[in-house]
Amino acid sequence: MSRIVMKFGGTSVANMQRIRAVAAHVRREADAGKSVAVVVSAMAGETNRLVALCEEAGAPAPALDARGVEYDAVVASGEQVTSSLLALVLQNLGYRARSWQGWQIPLKTDAAHGKARIAEIDAEAIGAAMDGGEIAVVAGFQGIAPNGRIATLGRGGSDTSAVALAAAVGAERCDIYTDVDGVYTTDPRLAKKARRIAKISFEEMLEAASLGAKVLQTRSVELAMAHKVPLRVLSSFEPPDAQGPGTVICDEDDIVEQNIVSTVTPDFNDASVTILAVPDEPGRAAGIFTALADADINIDMIVQSASREPGYANISFTTKEGELDRALEVLSAEQDAIGFKSLQSDRKVAKVSVVGLGMKSHAGVASIMFKTLADKGINIQNISTSEIKISVLIDADAAEYAVRVLHEAYGLDDDRKPGA
Ligand code: ASP
Ligand code: MG
Repeated sequence: MSRIVMKFGGTSVANMQRIRAVAAHVRREADAGKSVAVVVSAMAGETNRLVALCEEAGAPAPALDARGVEYDAVVASGEQVTSSLLALVLQNLGYRARSWQGWQIPLKTDAAHGKARIAEIDAEAIGAAMDGGEIAVVAGFQGIAPNGRIATLGRGGSDTSAVALAAAVGAERCDIYTDVDGVYTTDPRLAKKARRIAKISFEEMLEAASLGAKVLQTRSVELAMAHKVPLRVLSSFEPPDAQGPGTVICDEDDIVEQNIVSTVTPDFNDASVTILAVPDEPGRAAGIFTALADADINIDMIVQSASREPGYANISFTTKEGELDRALEVLSAEQDAIGFKSLQSDRKVAKVSVVGLGMKSHAGVASIMFKTLADKGINIQNISTSEIKISVLIDADAAEYAVRVLHEAYGLDDDRKPGA
């Protein structure tokens, strides 16, 4: 019998009315003869509420001590509630259904409370229950740590629970239901011409997710790619009997016509730092980035350029806005050791990225980006690239406009591409 995993996020289970709508989607698949596991998030806003309570009680996560253990027991409770409510609704519709908490499966994690990683899923019992015609309703976001206590997987972790479960039970696909009907070429709130993408590769989705496209947790995409679990992003707000096709996320070999650029993604959470007049000699960059790494500050988009003063260089990088103050403190503390002259920072920057598999095989993708921005008078402060991505750092005020003109320049406004 073919098994599928369906995952519903917080807005999809926000109240009893929404949970009933979810049950209607689930029964459609069960009636079609699938062995079904459903992974649910907590009701929208519930995890935030629980996190705030923990903070009030003196347990900021992630804490790798006794406080982290209790934090996890509190925040995991949101999913315990929704999984059992959905099982109840399904039972009342005449279906056999039961809830599974992470420890009951068991879904085993490592010891990193608050941001645990999945170590192993014993899928035998749950797989047998599914094939026996019982709908398995699984509490997402949680598992059991080696100490026998509940562990949570980090915010947004239910996506990862769903993909890992799909891999463990050998599901033919994992359907991720959310409040949008798929993955878009760009944020529809910024560009009216944004279009739903019919198919996108794991690799592209991974870049887009880590660039801040909020549809899927980055780790869930990594896991789907590693285990080749096809994903579909769908809306639970569509009528169950008129479900749209959503967006399929799959192996690049399964995409016949690859887009040169699939998405244009803005990220407004970046800030830039420039370190002026660093002595141009071996070991200085190492000193800077080791100090930042030791403080657990993530950095991106590094550029070194010649300083006006001979024998010195300027080094710029970006970090998340929330980490900027800490980055500046760490660098100031190291000023004498590193030997730079001064620091500058800018919060009013945005990173705009274009992602597309076709870049691997097509020349000129970068020049379109630079020429389009130049024609509109948008200055580029910083550039970074990967095999399938080009990012530029620009003034935050120009970012929305940049997204729209790039969307058009890469042919994404066009009705026939890449929508379905
Ligand atoms: N409820 C958790 C959160 O809000 C997990 C999830 O929704 O994926 O982060
Ligand atoms: Mg989510």
